Amino acid sequence: MPQGFATDAPDAIPPGGGAGLARPARSRYSDDASRQSGSDDTPAPKTSRPRRPGILEAFDLAASTPHEGSMTASALPSDPKAAPKTLGAPKISFVSLGCPKALVDSERILTHLRAEGYELARRHDGADVVIVNTCGFLDSAKAESLAAIGEAMAENGRVIVTGCMGAQPEEIREKYPNLLAVTGPQAYESVVAAVHEAVPPAHDPFLDLVPPQGVKLTPRHYAYLKISEGCNNRCTFCIIPFLRGDLVSRPAGDVLREAEKLVKAGVKELLVVSQDTSAYGVDIRYAESPWRDRAVRAKFYDLAKELGELGAWVRLHYVYPYPHVDEVIPLMAEGKVLPYLDMPLQHASPTVLKRMRRPGNQERQLERIRRWRETCPDLAIRSTFIVGFPGETEAEFSELLDWIKEAKLERVGCFTYEPVTGAPANALGEAVPPELQLERKRRFMEAQQIVSLRLQKARIGKRLPVIIDTVGADGIKGRSKYDAPEIDGSVHVTSRRPVRQGDVVTVKIEAADAYDLRGSVV
Ligand code: SF4
Repeated sequence: MPQGFATDAPDAIPPGGGAGLARPARSRYSDDASRQSGSDDTPAPKTSRPRRPGILEAFDLAASTPHEGSMTASALPSDPKAAPKTLGAPKISFVSLGCPKALVDSERILTHLRAEGYELARRHDGADVVIVNTCGFLDSAKAESLAAIGEAMAENGRVIVTGCMGAQPEEIREKYPNLLAVTGPQAYESVVAAVHEAVPPAHDPFLDLVPPQGVKLTPRHYAYLKISEGCNNRCTFCIIPFLRGDLVSRPAGDVLREAEKLVKAGVKELLVVSQDTSAYGVDIRYAESPWRDRAVRAKFYDLAKELGELGAWVRLHYVYPYPHVDEVIPLMAEGKVLPYLDMPLQHASPTVLKRMRRPGNQERQLERIRRWRETCPDLAIRSTFIVGFPGETEAEFSELLDWIKEAKLERVGCFTYEPVTGAPANALGEAVPPELQLERKRRFMEAQQIVSLRLQKARIGKRLPVIIDTVGADGIKGRSKYDAPEIDGSVHVTSRRPVRQGDVVTVKIEAADAYDLRGSVV
């Protein structure tokens, strides 16, 4: 969870808030009609810095609209439930909080509404209704969600709440009884129905407002591709299964058609996300579905292979070290899929992992990683860890420190444990005092920085393909195959010839620190 990505993924956004990244990234909404070179607004966190804690993205969805002349009732209505008198297309203001999976939910809702003729407002007070997609993974994320709802109520008064926090509507209703509607995660139809009730669509059948790939909140050159919802695991620090339910996989053909549309629309990098990507298809018994002239199984390997044929970079997030992940590594060695695995491990002490109810034995994980690197020597592994889990002893923490020194992972984030209301872990042991949590995080990050710096310096002199994220007054910034947007490091690039956002160029690496690389286009 980065929260920037932050949510759900507890694996993406482990409890506790991480180091670095003080401010949430703000992205401008963009669609085909109004793409911004938006990465200016979304500075990438540094390599080895942990993902952002809890609430990630507060998207300031300032879409330019095709109907500048349209008018909306923007004054606060005396009866908030009464539909405003709207001339022209009704306008929606949208706040998206949480991880990339929540971001995909927001994109789906917006795609649907844009298809019906709704426009996006730049500000709450110019909108007919405000939608807040909440994050409920951490208590701090809930507080931020409640604050976002409060802001929308104060500035507009006609507010629909959805997302993870919507699974517990009482808490929200208690604070904001006048909300128009509260719906749970993935309840797209309920959100859309609530919008219809609040402000009916002014449909214009002659306008095609929505690009075939849907409305995207990311810059044009990369997109998140959600392959499933929910999770069958029951990690003790996580309430995501309670909020989002058990695993529900999308048919492989649906995922591939969406990916194909994205690539046709100019997306150069597909970021595969879910709660547990390696479990893809278990719930539907790996069912086949039609894709082009053949049938494709809903299986991790089969999907990765087919995605690798689409001509874009394919990056796999939230992969667990299950044995069948071995099959995908040769695809990375062949260049079909990026040599990058985002694998949230959370700890390395067997006793802590047992209390966390996480799969895996750290000895076997080390052996598995060693074999993966034999098959694909330039594999980059990103992981996140929690320190200060209830009852964590100094000896257990030392096991973790020894493990990360030996595993030599390229990108690592560290979070202190934060007790999430309702998580069984809170009762599993004595709480580690906050000052000790912070001290352990500092020791962990110091140890990892030594590893990261050595691995980064080994890239000096190499020529790497780099995808350009931003070109501006601050210079040119991109990412190598080893860096995911928002959570990893950057490559600072100089170039004698013009480069544009989304270009993939070859860069000779000339300098490195523990997070970023520097080099020139060759
Ligand atoms: S229960 Fe599922 S979503 Fe939660 S941390 Fe575990 S694997 Fe991730």
